[in-house]
Amino acid sequence: MPGADRPFWTRPLASLGREEWEALCDGCGKCCLHKVEDADSGRIWPTNVACKLLDLKTARCSDYKHRRQYVPDCLRLTPALAASLEWLPETCAYRLRADDQPLPEWHYLVCGDRDAVHRAGASVVGKAISEVLAGPLEQHIDWGDEEPLEVERVDEE
Ligand code: SF4
Repeated sequence: MPGADRPFWTRPLASLGREEWEALCDGCGKCCLHKVEDADSGRIWPTNVACKLLDLKTARCSDYKHRRQYVPDCLRLTPALAASLEWLPETCAYRLRADDQPLPEWHYLVCGDRDAVHRAGASVVGKAISEVLAGPLEQHIDWGDEEPLEVERVDEE
């Protein structure tokens, strides 16, 4: 196969074997944060609320092998989804490779250090709260630079 001598993380996603595919994940945990969809616009907003299975100290799933028993709608990424899901984080290794972009220098496959993703501030460590404690998702939306949607006010009498 052409390019088979290249490191697997520089090859097209479709050419990766199962273990290579799994190893591509940078361990950021960002895809394990809940999102909120605006019913009117269809826009998807990120929150800082993590799936109950996410270990907030390591940003790794606490039961990856059996996760779908507990969270049946946990997404199984594919090359096609990596290329089309708009809500995947811009730094997601699968999204980057689907766009034929290189992995960042803090990716462990590049630098050899699994903790570099956390030191670079590219993971959810120190930034997320578990859904077990969070309460309504709407209170945890990350608006980025945008103004929050207007909330209807009921004036007190
Ligand atoms: S966002 Fe991408 S790279 Fe980060 S944990 Fe999820 S699948 Fe892995």
